[in-house]
Amino acid sequence: AASLAALDPDVSAAVERELHRQQSTLEMIASENFAPAAVMEAQGSVLTNKYAEGYPGRRYYGGCEHVDVVEQLAIDRAKELFGAGFANVQPHSGAQANAAAMFALLTPGDTILGLNLAHGGHLTHGMKINFSGKLYNVVSYGVSEETHSIDMAEVARLAEEHKPKLIVAGWSAYSRQLDFAEFRRIADSVGAYLMVDMAHFAGLVAAGLHPNPVPFADVVTTTTHKTLGGPRGGIILSNTPEIAKKINSAVFPGQQGGPLMHVVAAKAVALKVAASEDFKDRQRRTLEGAKLLAERLLADDVKAAGISLVNGGTDVHLVLVDLRDSELDGQQAEDRLHRVGITVNRNAVPFDPRPPMVSSGLRIGTPALATRGFGPAEFAEVADIIATALIRDLTDELARELRSRVEVLAGKFPLYPTTADQNGA
Ligand code: PLP
Repeated sequence: AASLAALDPDVSAAVERELHRQQSTLEMIASENFAPAAVMEAQGSVLTNKYAEGYPGRRYYGGCEHVDVVEQLAIDRAKELFGAGFANVQPHSGAQANAAAMFALLTPGDTILGLNLAHGGHLTHGMKINFSGKLYNVVSYGVSEETHSIDMAEVARLAEEHKPKLIVAGWSAYSRQLDFAEFRRIADSVGAYLMVDMAHFAGLVAAGLHPNPVPFADVVTTTTHKTLGGPRGGIILSNTPEIAKKINSAVFPGQQGGPLMHVVAAKAVALKVAASEDFKDRQRRTLEGAKLLAERLLADDVKAAGISLVNGGTDVHLVLVDLRDSELDGQQAEDRLHRVGITVNRNAVPFDPRPPMVSSGLRIGTPALATRGFGPAEFAEVADIIATALIRDLTDELARELRSRVEVLAGKFPLYPTTADQNGA
């Protein structure tokens, strides 16, 4: 059989270049990670050929005896890892997981209460042109202007006023832990379901370094590729049998046809990894790295440049840089870090005066570098490179100097060093 390089040199060359980009730069997009070779091996396997509509033991296609084993392993591991009575591992992505969970609990026209996108919520929590905003009546809560923390009194007030059928807790850009018990209390006070979208912090939960939302929520959704470090995909968890049934039928046949069994296999592998001591150590370094980054970005020289942190620090795997008082906007700051070999994304901050395409913030995360092997010394060094690039006049000479410091760090922890690692073989 022809190799990718022989059959399709164009795609192959782009893949090679992407590998080189990942190896030679420092990945600090908070939602990204590096999947282990074994996860990529499962994802690149013959399971991609198999139709398996239905669930283990109850399929609409023949020949499912082996993929049944794989899906059951993924389900059992997800349940065990997060302490849930039920897991559906078929959602193709986090957005699909959220769509299915809402489809299971709501009727179009029902009211949902979620975190405002501009304050750190996700598109699927009620953005106007997302399915969630089109199908449901959306009410949004936000963070307080003084503290940048979610204003639980406002959540309670909005719940009381609008009587939502579903309250969504969870975020894409927020640097603190949520008060799941208070969300539960508010949901109960108005008879709403509570859904927690733990996509960002699921890896921290798995490692026992962040409160687990499963005991508090009716439904918990997650992606598998962020802090969890697996293949791109989604999972839905619940402890309520009646809801579990509705979720299974909302995923298939409600939202999806055949599950991506190669991805389900990769999820099973990632969930096994997530139960290991090495994984816990990695999540510990992730948190430690974010704290060190926050410490450096709160120092006096950074403050003097008008740069601070949203919410004044972090308890999770990311920091949100606040550029509202800086001459640099989010786009310029992202470009500066790109020039020195650090990849981040610009992000709107709460009460952002600049338009979303430019924005006044940067979201910087530590999960991918922790996976690469970074410890406190390396995180302190990358934090100083970031601070320097943001506050000094970034001349070509300084950019070269910082770029070479980045190369030293990248060289210290080779990523996918062998061909077998790269192909997941
Ligand atoms: N939920 C949250 C909180 C997210 O941050 C994201 C991804 O950015 C998603 C859901 C959607 O995941 P996906 O990109 O896999 O659809």
